[in-house]
Amino acid sequence: MSNQSNYPTSLFSSNLTFKNENQSGGALSIAGCSAEKLVKEFGSPLFVLDQEDFYLRARAWRAALDNSFGSGQLYYAAKSFICVEVAKWLKELKLGLDVCSGGELAVALAADFPAQDIEFHGNNKSEVEIRKAVKAGVGTIVIDSFDELNRVATIAKELGEVQKVYLRLTPGVDAHTHEFISTAHEDVKFGFSIASGAASEAIEKCMSQSSLKLSGIHCHIGSQIFEVAGFKAAAERLVAVLASFRDKYSMELQELNIGGGYGIAYTKDESAISPDLVIPAIAAVIKDECAKAKLALPRISIEPGRAIVGPTTTTIYVVGTTKSVKLENGAERRYVSVDGGMSENIRPALYGAVYSAFLANRSSTAKLISSRVVGKHCESGDILISEIDLPADIAAGDLLAIPATGAYGRSMASNYNHIARPSVVAVINGTAREILRRENEQDLLNLDVNQPPRQLS
Ligand SMILES: *Cc1c(COP(=O)(O)O)cnc(C)c1O
Repeated sequence: MSNQSNYPTSLFSSNLTFKNENQSGGALSIAGCSAEKLVKEFGSPLFVLDQEDFYLRARAWRAALDNSFGSGQLYYAAKSFICVEVAKWLKELKLGLDVCSGGELAVALAADFPAQDIEFHGNNKSEVEIRKAVKAGVGTIVIDSFDELNRVATIAKELGEVQKVYLRLTPGVDAHTHEFISTAHEDVKFGFSIASGAASEAIEKCMSQSSLKLSGIHCHIGSQIFEVAGFKAAAERLVAVLASFRDKYSMELQELNIGGGYGIAYTKDESAISPDLVIPAIAAVIKDECAKAKLALPRISIEPGRAIVGPTTTTIYVVGTTKSVKLENGAERRYVSVDGGMSENIRPALYGAVYSAFLANRSSTAKLISSRVVGKHCESGDILISEIDLPADIAAGDLLAIPATGAYGRSMASNYNHIARPSVVAVINGTAREILRRENEQDLLNLDVNQPPRQLS
């Protein structure tokens, strides 16, 4: 078994270094590329992705799966961050890909990603998306509702295909962050509830459709999870479903997908959950429960997104305006504005996500003062870091690095205020290249049309 201590659990990517480092930061380099040179070449804000770190994490999760279960599949969650180049890396790594829209599927297909290794998620896939997926030969469609079950069955029949499917179940385990909550019924838009009986009804319906091949069940219990208890509880409940399936149909479902959600560090106080810790723990429960129920061990798959790409990427900003304000309690707060904000990192504004920041062009010995890192958008809530101690001498022109921005940063980016979305640069062995270019003003104007009005037929 691989060594647990080898897995990088800090908020920094593996090949990130600060020269003349102190607690404020230092002259930042990632994979031998200096932040200053990167910004000079590619502009800012800039997502810098440590490519070797991506491979290292992807391989570590894959290896943990293989070590614990002998085989299995890792479906990388495309929604965390995908582009054609990253899809090619995943293909090279022989991993699977979890997509949840026609757009994400289009990226995978543009990278010639093997369709049979794609899994298609989503609670409201359109007929167009389903047809496209079935035609492309997508390996697995994860069915999320009764409506969709009928839609997929009808479309597959029409196209003369038997589509392999999973059913997404809600096991009554909700694990967002450090604890998990066990609930009897699930007030969420995703999946079929096990407790209410919807799951077994969906299984029956699936089994009665000749154009569907039910090969397994799926659950995803949340995101940014640090405790294995939630995964264990979910695994137990899913194995119980596998057992009742066997009792009813005298055959066994071959596959069990336990989703993603593995937590990473965003601050120096946090530590990512290691694949060598969580996967064997889940494996022990699944093996135990399967043995008790006299079931063969199903093929296990997982869907990490954040855990693979999150820590690989650091955003580099150029500092602009700073100002100090007096708070009601007499204390002072300094606002440090950077040249991006909620358009390339919506997570703090959307759900209070916490990040850290470091000086990236130099270190400072100035006193650390209470600061708030804000963007340039016309919105008071455009805050990247609500409260952080930063050196008092930070000024316009300094570079500020925010680590662990690889997941749900660029992928959730918007053009609010007509700000162009930043580029993503992959760095490896002292070299750098754009894998997603920065938008320009022409890109922003390209959608504006000048059409005469016309009657609709
Ligand atoms: C979002 C999501 C994932 C990935 O979650 P991470 O927190 O990025 O690991 C995996 N599976 C499903 C079904 C999801 O919705």
